This record gives sequence, C-alpha cells and structure tokens, in this order.
Amino acid sequence: MKTIYLDNNATTAIAPEVYEAMTPYLTQLYGNPSSMHTFGGQIHKKIEDSRSMVASLIGAQPEEIIFTSCGTESDNSAIMSALQLYPQKRHIITTRVEHPAVLSLCKYLSRKGYRITFLPVDSLGRLDMDFFYKSIDNDTAIVSIMYANNETGVIFPIREIGETLRERKILFHTDAVQAIGKIPINLRELPVDMLALSGHKLHAPKGIGVLYIRKGVRFSPYIIGGHQEHGRRAGTENVASIIAIGKACELASKSFQGETLYIANLRDKLERALIERCPNPRINGDVGNRLPNTTNLSFEYVEGEAILLRLNEHGICASSGSACTSGSLEPSHVLKAMGVPFTAIHGSIRFSLSRYNTEEDINTVIEIMPMVIKTLRELSPYGRKKDEKCSTPYYLES
Ligand code: PLP
Repeated sequence: MKTIYLDNNATTAIAPEVYEAMTPYLTQLYGNPSSMHTFGGQIHKKIEDSRSMVASLIGAQPEEIIFTSCGTESDNSAIMSALQLYPQKRHIITTRVEHPAVLSLCKYLSRKGYRITFLPVDSLGRLDMDFFYKSIDNDTAIVSIMYANNETGVIFPIREIGETLRERKILFHTDAVQAIGKIPINLRELPVDMLALSGHKLHAPKGIGVLYIRKGVRFSPYIIGGHQEHGRRAGTENVASIIAIGKACELASKSFQGETLYIANLRDKLERALIERCPNPRINGDVGNRLPNTTNLSFEYVEGEAILLRLNEHGICASSGSACTSGSLEPSHVLKAMGVPFTAIHGSIRFSLSRYNTEEDINTVIEIMPMVIKTLRELSPYGRKKDEKCSTPYYLES
C-alpha cells in the first residue's frame, strides 16, 4: 500500500538531493572539523558553505547563524540567553499557542519565579495585539512569539511586533520552525533579534537546528564546553546534518514561488472537497493568513483519533487535535485557546502537505475521507442525531 504522507508539519522526508549531499560525511569524510590535519580541516570549509546557504535563505549573514541540535534547543537557548544577560528583568511575553519548545520552558520558568504573559488569540487563531501592547513593561526581558503556528498554520504579525519591541529596546525571538521554506523570510528587513529553525521540517534530517542571532545582539551560550560555533554552542559539530540543512535551504530558496503555489493549490483542492462532501465541517484558523501547506479541519461528533486510525488503514498519514496522554484524550492547547468547542477539537484533523505530494494523493484522500467520516458518524450516538445537511462554510460564501 502506498503511503500518502500529509503530516509534514510533524516531520518531512529527506530530499534526495539532501541525502546525496550529506552521505559522504557519514562515510569517507568523517574528520573532525576542529582537527589541525587537512582530512579534518577540509570539513570546516564545508560547514561554512552550509552556514552561508542557511543565511542566504533568510536574508542573514553567515556569522549570524549557529547550528544547534534541533528547533527546541534553539528556542530554549534564545530565551535562556536573555534571562542570563538581563538577570534584573523577570518578565517574558509569549503566546498561549506556542509549541511546547517555548510553552513548556515558559511554564517551567514561571515555577521558578518569572512572570510570564501568555498572549491570547481570537477564534481564528489571530494574536490579540492590544493585549500584547499592554503587556510590555520595563521588566520584560524577552518576547518569544512564533512566526507561524504548527497546528493551524496561522501567521503572526512578526514585523509589527518586532518594530514595537525595537523601539522599546526589548529582545525579540521568533520560533520560525514551521515558517521556514514555506513562506519567504527576509531578516534584512524584519526587526527580529533571534530566530529558531529546525532541519526536519525542511526536508533535512532530524537532530539539526539553527539559531539566528542578529549581529550586535548579545548572546549567552546555553551549552558550554569547546570553542565550536565561535564559543556560542559547544559540542563537536553534527557535520552530515549541517551539510544537509544547508542543502535543504538551498533547495528551498531555489524553488520557492512555483512550489509554494503548487502546494497551496493541492491544499485548497483538498480543503474545498472535504468541506463540500462532509457534514458540518469547520476550518480552524485564519484562512486568509496561514501557511500554504496546512489545513486544520474539524468534523464535529467524531473522534479525531478514530479518523486517524481509519485513514491509517488506507496508508494516509495526518494528525489530530487531541493527543492520547495517559489513556485519555488531551485536547489541543491551540484549538482550546481559540475557543473551538470541545466536540470540534476532538474531531479535528490537520493535513500538512509538501512538495512531494501529488494530485493523485489528494484525490485518494478526497475519496476516502468522506466515507470515513460517514462511517464514524453512524457509529456515534451524537453523530447520528447531528448529521444534518452541510451548511455552506463561511469562506465559500464569498
Ligand atoms: N517549534 C515548532 C513550531 C514546531 O512545530 C516544532 C516541532 O514540531 C518545534 C519547535 C521543535 O522542533 P524540533 O523537533 O526540531 O525540536
């Protein structure tokens, strides 16, 4: 059975070009880039080439890029650096819809005595900007707000936030793990101080991340040890994965426009068809301002987990808005923050596409998904009662 992979916000396939570029560094070219001999030393140059490729994708300078082990490390390093450098400041601003890479750290810091403002979002997942403006004060050490949300794809007003914070001389970090390669990011014109990326969302392997630190912004290392990354991130470099993320960034910058449109068209086709063919659908998130590859849909009165299992039987991979923890279904904190009713949160499914999806993949899902929803609704006592005719979703009315 063919796998139809529509879970690219969870992780992506390694691009064949990336695999090809990295494999020599797992086999023949195994030297340590810090070694004095040529065998190791030649690797150093390759790492610097990779750094330039990453920098080029986001409009940064190579010396503003440090390689880390993952997006989570990059996020943690940025926030912890600010707290180390400004110990008198005890306030952090973030959002209620961050990835646990930021959210869990902030909750931990709150238990350690820091004051954390978790900004709310509205029913479309848009940030409450008035709340943001009112939350800033002289005690604010850093603001960490994601570029785009991993569950809904909703994009936040990074420029507006950055401009405000620059005027107030407050550090601004953004988690761009989901935005990278999906929408253009140009740090030459964007007032962001630190930005986190992750390789495995970009067709590079798992276990490689990037932290951008704007020139002139002070940084206190999170991992202390050797002199690697100019003393900003110790530990012998994950050479093969560094080469891989450079190549992945190069591919992303080469094929941006056409590819983005291709993915968005497939996503829209899928979304429209499911809305037309399934009863009581609901799109979660601001359809006018989201990542081109993501759709988050709710089908009330069916369990997202049950949908996933049925899709899985057909080789279709997606995600649901509730995760199974300790035997019970934990509703998505993102959809909860948006005020999505519980019946809809539990029936939510995220499809996230990539350049490797085909029209045929989408046609298969369009065929299977309505049957899955119908079967599950017939099994559900609530579903049978509520299975009235599909009303026109608000965004198809115009
Ligand atoms: N931030 C966001 C928005 C994510 O979606 C993820 C991963 O899902 C991360 C951070 C964590 O990245 P990593 O898996 O590389 O630690």
